[in-house]
Amino acid sequence: MRLSQAYMPTLREAPQDAEIVSHKLLLRAGMIRKTCSGVYTFLPLGYRVLRNIEEIVRRNMDEYGGQEIMMSVIQPAEIWQASGRWEKYGPEMFKVKDRNGRDFCLGPTAEEYFTTLVKDELTSYKQLPLNIYQIQLKYRDEKRPRFGLNRSREFLMKDAYTFDATPEGMEASYKNMEHCYDSIFNEIGLEYVKVDSDSGQMGGNMTIEYQALADTGEGALFYTDNYKFAATDEKCEVVYEVKNKDDAMKEKEAVKTPNCKTIEDVANFLGKDKSECVKAIALKARDEKFFVFIPGDRELNMTKFVNYAGVNDYDVEMMDDETILASGSVPGFMGPFNLEGRVILDKRLTEMKNMVVGANEVDAHFVNVNYKRDFDGEIAGDLLMAQVGDMAPDGSGELKMRRGIEVGQIFGLGTKYSESLGAGFLDENGVKKPFWMGSYGVGISRTITAIIEQNYDEFGIIWPINIAPYEVIITVVNTADEAQVKVAEDLYKELSRDFTVLIDDRKERAGVKFNDRDLIGIPLRITVGKGVLEDKVEFSLRKTPKDREDIKTEEVLNRLLEERRILCQ
Ligand code: ATP
Ligand code: MG
Repeated sequence: MRLSQAYMPTLREAPQDAEIVSHKLLLRAGMIRKTCSGVYTFLPLGYRVLRNIEEIVRRNMDEYGGQEIMMSVIQPAEIWQASGRWEKYGPEMFKVKDRNGRDFCLGPTAEEYFTTLVKDELTSYKQLPLNIYQIQLKYRDEKRPRFGLNRSREFLMKDAYTFDATPEGMEASYKNMEHCYDSIFNEIGLEYVKVDSDSGQMGGNMTIEYQALADTGEGALFYTDNYKFAATDEKCEVVYEVKNKDDAMKEKEAVKTPNCKTIEDVANFLGKDKSECVKAIALKARDEKFFVFIPGDRELNMTKFVNYAGVNDYDVEMMDDETILASGSVPGFMGPFNLEGRVILDKRLTEMKNMVVGANEVDAHFVNVNYKRDFDGEIAGDLLMAQVGDMAPDGSGELKMRRGIEVGQIFGLGTKYSESLGAGFLDENGVKKPFWMGSYGVGISRTITAIIEQNYDEFGIIWPINIAPYEVIITVVNTADEAQVKVAEDLYKELSRDFTVLIDDRKERAGVKFNDRDLIGIPLRITVGKGVLEDKVEFSLRKTPKDREDIKTEEVLNRLLEERRILCQ
């Protein structure tokens, strides 16, 4: 491709609303443009990158037994109503009506649709297992679209679904897809971690998230050395030792705690440790009210709460002061006594002794409060957020934390969708059974952001060669110099037989061309300048831009073939 004719609108500055490096660089390099909040158009270079990733995913999926189909984006409401997700998916789902008032959605994922598709056509155990997938735009009306392609409202996803006759079959299909995903992300060259995670509204509890490590990632990962243990913050089970569990119960006592509204205030005022106090969090979800109590030195894990309470995450909000007052308590002084609403306890409260809790009265707490003797409630198990330094639940060491970008997730779904949609097969004995299913997603457009977050410098993007929009760029230093143009054009012709090549033949200053070349991140570079008088051109790699080497023009092809071989290793 000739840059003199290319649609590559590079920018010197990124627009104000671009927050993270990948978003800024994609805009500056002329790879994407914003259509509206969370919706993007891919320009020629960006689209080539997207297609390269798509091809890696497709080739691996085919190798591991997947068959590609393409579904419609529009999906009828009925199948979502049958699984219960028409409501459960919440405001993230883009819903549309046709002219007759019938409901549809723009697919955010497609478990229901794939299940419905095979329902009447996959009828015998002899046709199983089956692995089908698509690479398709998905739509989610994210609450907070941000970071460009990272959390967008329209994005490209590869979604695959497996159908098996038995749970063992499902496990084998799931393992096969795990190997496929390992292969995909290794080939893309990402530094990633496989983590245990929450399965959200998807269902089932067999799941792995693929997290590309990046400080700008939205997800927090807790792990131990060599990732022996790794889980998302949402999922990570918390090991929390109650220090005073063997203490004798003391007599409950009311104390005045003027203006002590936070745990810190109360602990300081009473000369106690925060771990001896109880933290109260008042929440509501639609008409239901919840008073949640946890150890005072920890934070509530909202995902664990949502899973326990059985509410929709998008319905949960903090309880306002009026509602707290109307429910028998006082903001800042909440205690688990005589409340109107569900009282939910982290399991450690059953062990803690002589706790400090709110008295549901202004400026008042109780000390030496003990579970069962003084209060009761639903025991929800573990409701805590993990923190660095906790012992890992598998005992493999103390937890550390890093941030990641979720690029893929695989799920063993069981029979949730096949049962709710009445999809099954006849076994050897002619008995109808539901399919054992799995579902597997790769965020293809989001993966672009993860690659950039791991591969850039102060000058721009550094594409891995198998992802780069072009492998080679030839820069003509002075387009008014006929000798330079001739050498560059000849090389362009020659190299194009073995490589994807860009030639910068624009009538621009050399500096502009060098800046653009760095910005768009083409891995192999040839600069054609004054050296042509001695039959020489300059070679450099994008990842080490300062190491420049003059080489014989006739050696360029072999040198580039060799350099590509090294980069592909
Ligand atoms: P997240 O937790 O980040 O919202 P998710 O767990 O809801 O993602 P999945 O349903 O597992 O996402 O979708 C499969 C893949 O699609 C994800 O692993 C991710 O890479 C990608 N993806 C999900 N939501 C978005 C989005 N809003 N923008 C871009 N990619 C996305
Ligand atoms: Mg996910």
